[in-house]
Amino acid sequence: MRKTKVQRFSREKIAPRVAEMDRNSHLDKDIIKGLFDQGFMGVEVSSEYGGTGSSFFGSCLAIEEIARVDPAVAVMVDVQNTLVETIFMQYGNKEQNEKYLSQLATKSVGCFCLSEFGSGSDAFALQTRAVADGDHFVLNGTKAWISNSEHADIFLVFANASPEKGYKGITCFIVERNMPGLSLGKKEDKLGIRASSTCPVILENVRVPESNIMGKFGEGYKIAIGILNEGRISIASQMVGLAQGALDAAIPYTMERKQFNQRIFDFQGVQHQIAEMSTMVAAARAITYDAARLKVAGKPVVKEGAMAKYFASEMAQKVSSKALEWLGGVGFTKDFPVEKFYRDAKIGVIYEGSSNIQLNTIAKYVAMEY
Ligand SMILES: Cc1cc2nc3c(=O)[nH]c(=O)nc-3n(C[C@H](O)[C@H](O)[C@H](O)COP(=O)(O)OP(=O)(O)OC[C@H]3O[C@@H](n4cnc5c(N)ncnc54)[C@H](O)[C@@H]3O)c2cc1C
Repeated sequence: MRKTKVQRFSREKIAPRVAEMDRNSHLDKDIIKGLFDQGFMGVEVSSEYGGTGSSFFGSCLAIEEIARVDPAVAVMVDVQNTLVETIFMQYGNKEQNEKYLSQLATKSVGCFCLSEFGSGSDAFALQTRAVADGDHFVLNGTKAWISNSEHADIFLVFANASPEKGYKGITCFIVERNMPGLSLGKKEDKLGIRASSTCPVILENVRVPESNIMGKFGEGYKIAIGILNEGRISIASQMVGLAQGALDAAIPYTMERKQFNQRIFDFQGVQHQIAEMSTMVAAARAITYDAARLKVAGKPVVKEGAMAKYFASEMAQKVSSKALEWLGGVGFTKDFPVEKFYRDAKIGVIYEGSSNIQLNTIAKYVAMEY
């Protein structure tokens, strides 16, 4: 995945629409089509299934560059590549991949349905149930906060098919949008990443063929843990891109605006902040690229992914906040893009495991080293 190709698309096609899409809480259909046409929705999928055949690192670069312009559009690319398609690539059988992965790489949006209103951080306490009925399973429950759901055709749904076995009953099902009984609840009206759709997904007696079990029966918890451990690295990429975008928007302004007959940039107090925030972005990028590199090399990344996500998302909050301040009053308005980066940054410390959950993981792994 060439960085320049993503940069060009982001600047030419996404940038002019960012403010309007944010205002309307809507991701334009032609932007989604453009993401498919450019190959950004099937970065790691092999050409056999219509994908670009690049690497996880390629996905991270695409997500970073898109987030630099619009972190909301980056969520769509992130979920599609690093959650949904990766699950198909790691666990899908030939028939499933021929049927679904080829669609995902070329034209169909997918979503990852794990969380529920009662089970967020404690994801495996989920209450959605799957009951066997001949060669089908009948799914009932409500999934919460599902990114991409408004546009999705393919839903990966985690349901417990053997509650007596606890989390070992959790199974992942491929559910199609047009299967009777699947509907969406009211779209969330969010603080940030507003153009990214987030809706409850309601399952009422949805009959799913047994052949749509992803991986093995009862393997859902393993699929979810594994994929989120990797997915956290690309959320770190989203946060690095977001912070870089905030700097890109703010620093040139400080070089033009004058107060006390001096450029804002030339006040040493401001310069030191700019230097510090630029260093934070570089550090977050380094730790993120390192985790991505390890993942591509097939090395363990649980601790490294948690560190990257934790550090990058906390960093993005600080950097976007400072960048907003460098603009003074206009930074607080919607005439400049920094307030959006500031709002968008908040999601980084919440989804795919909050900062506290990352710290729990990091502490566990650090303890094992001593
Ligand atoms: C915009 C958006 C998009 C999302 N997209 C998806 C999606 O596509 N698919 C999906 O499945 N889910 C998605 N989610 C859900 C997201 O992953 C959860 O919101 C997240 O895991 C936190 O769960 P929660 O909201 O229930 O918060 P809670 O789990 O209720 O946490 C509340 C607070 O308690 C803290 N806390 C909880 N447990 C602990 C602990 N053990 N130790 C210390 N502190 C703790 C947390 O850090 C947090 O600060 C999305 C959420 C949002 C907001």
